[in-house]
Amino acid sequence: MFKKILIANRGEIACRVAATARRMAIKTVAVYSDADAGAKHVGYCDEAVHIGGSAPKDSYLRWERIIEAAKATGAEAIHPGYGFLSENEEFAQACSDAGLVFIGPPPSAIKAMGLKAESKQLMEKAGVPLVPGYHGSDQSPTLLKREADRIGYPVLIKASAGGGGKGMRAVDKSEDFDAALASCKREAINSFGDDAVLVEKYAQRPRHIEIQVFGDTHGNYVYLFERDCSVQRRHQKVLEEAPAPGMTEAMRKQMGEAALAAARAVNYVGAGTVEFIVEQRADGSMNFFFMEMNTRLQVEHPVTEAITGLDLVEWQLLVASGQKLPLAQDQLRINGHAIEARICAENPDNNFLPATGTLHLYQKPDCTSFERGAVRVDDGVREGDAISPFYDSMVAKLIVHGRTREEALARLDEALAQTRIVGLNTNVQFLRYVVRSPSFAQANLDTALIPRESAVLFKQEPVGLVMAAASAIARTLLDEKSREGTDPFSRRDGWRSHGVNVRRFEFEFQGEPAKAELTYLHDGALHVTVGDVSGPLVFSASPKGIDLQFSGQRMTAAVYRQGEVDHVFTARGATHITVIDLLEHAGHGPAEGGRLTAPMPGKVVSFAVKAGDKVSKGQALAVMEAMKMEHTIAAPADGTVLEILYAPGDQVAEGAELLKIEV
Ligand code: ADP
Ligand code: ADP
Ligand code: MG
Repeated sequence: MFKKILIANRGEIACRVAATARRMAIKTVAVYSDADAGAKHVGYCDEAVHIGGSAPKDSYLRWERIIEAAKATGAEAIHPGYGFLSENEEFAQACSDAGLVFIGPPPSAIKAMGLKAESKQLMEKAGVPLVPGYHGSDQSPTLLKREADRIGYPVLIKASAGGGGKGMRAVDKSEDFDAALASCKREAINSFGDDAVLVEKYAQRPRHIEIQVFGDTHGNYVYLFERDCSVQRRHQKVLEEAPAPGMTEAMRKQMGEAALAAARAVNYVGAGTVEFIVEQRADGSMNFFFMEMNTRLQVEHPVTEAITGLDLVEWQLLVASGQKLPLAQDQLRINGHAIEARICAENPDNNFLPATGTLHLYQKPDCTSFERGAVRVDDGVREGDAISPFYDSMVAKLIVHGRTREEALARLDEALAQTRIVGLNTNVQFLRYVVRSPSFAQANLDTALIPRESAVLFKQEPVGLVMAAASAIARTLLDEKSREGTDPFSRRDGWRSHGVNVRRFEFEFQGEPAKAELTYLHDGALHVTVGDVSGPLVFSASPKGIDLQFSGQRMTAAVYRQGEVDHVFTARGATHITVIDLLEHAGHGPAEGGRLTAPMPGKVVSFAVKAGDKVSKGQALAVMEAMKMEHTIAAPADGTVLEILYAPGDQVAEGAELLKIEV
């Protein structure tokens, strides 16, 4: 076995690989970019080498630099993780040319499966069932259209070099074909530098079911059963599970053997995944067709680990060091059911637009409160870390296991409820809605689950203004009480010190202004009015947050304040409310001014002012861009610009001071 390996990746997968290496007493070398200098994976490995700038092309894709780092640190092998260089046959070749072991398949297998069209031609020869379609090399638009007409609509046009859900267009009718082809080719050339496409039948009620395969250098092959990854957004996976609901023993065997035929056809070695599209016919029958093979470890590999009790990274290391597969096909068993949820920094209500920001609060489920092994969290971040615009938006993966799917599902809902993130938009709440949706709960799976259930998935409000406002008021009062301590002269409950017994609150909730009124009654009780709801408010601090009773409802809320925003976490779900406490504001006066900082990590697009300019309150000073969104920085008060601290195009960290003004 290797004594030391280099992990040519970052984040969650780098930590995942390092964890197994550590267990096997293998030393690890991390690589990192500028943006990742303080990242979790860097501290987690035994050594770390800086390899360049933040953009992937300046660091994680610089394979000469990575090979140098491996040589310099005495690593014997390189684990590529997924993404980045994992499916780059030149990198795999360069590793072996440099005398290093690439922990993955031989370059020839990566190449054979690299292009979807070529791999389909190969699979056809190997007798693996293919989706009816055209995957030839003639790319003339007339021919492609004729093929689409022959296949019959709807069809899917796919970039042969595509990946990550990009470069695909569904076409419903012949008239739409030309425009879709042109747009698909444009995206393909921009994203992959290759505009070759294939055309295939768009499967009916499709499910994505994939088979995990493993090969060793001694010619042994096994399949580690299937994963159902049908729940997708933008053709990208969000929830994955194993085994696939409704899978019969006969079909599992057929699919497993087809996957092994695919692997054998390219002399595969190591971990790989053969992806199939499964068509569900009206009569209940299911047909499976080869889609592509991913020649690497897959993001969702933990669900396979959960049902087999195996460590796939350990198997990768064993195979790469020349050992035989530890188990034969008839020694492999499925135990229970596992589901993985990908927690991503994104905004589900805004077309899943990726989000960036700092993890001001990052609370993970308490794995020890569940049965042993029932809940696992894989991540590459810690509280305080930023999700930057440079890399993938995945924050963490929650993996749950149960004896049955129902048990796994209940654990997933609880684990999601315990996942608390403040500082950026995530899909945590959305995932809870998906998990509870009738289709997912009843395992009525297909790739259109999210659009079909959209009525219960989007723009939902689990808590509501009334209870959100009650939580925020309770939180404000508890805070004040703890700040005041026992000093009677600093008490802020207006009734005693100022003779005022009514206090007003202003909120912003779901983009709408709202008001509440709090009355301190003479017996010390509190009466609250929010909109047209009015009644006594009773609350007390508890270990789980604040126990509240208001307007006939009882709720426990954990409230985290970030600036003026209260993030309210309850068993029903999470929400946030902006609190403008008028009493508090009256004491403090207008915003302090002076320092103007970046609200999130991103790029400076432009400055609208220069040093010496007089500006008035609310005037736009600068524009920042983070991922696909622009943010305007406005003057908090009238004043004069003293100094501009960055130039357009500069990358800035969250909280970086952009310019100074004097107010
Ligand atoms: P990528 O390389 O981007 O992963 P895939 O070929 O694996 O591309 O397809 C991604 C997703 O697109 C699949 O998981 C599935 O949801 C959908 N898809 C692909 N091919 C078909 C098809 N023929 N019919 C219906 N859906 C498909
Ligand atoms: P899979 O096919 O394995 O389910 P994807 O199709 O989403 O997963 O492809 C893997 C993707 O993982 C890459 O395209 C990349 O965007 C992303 N990725 C790469 N490295 C990391 C990482 N360290 N952490 C999270 N995601 C990553
Ligand atoms: Mg795929």
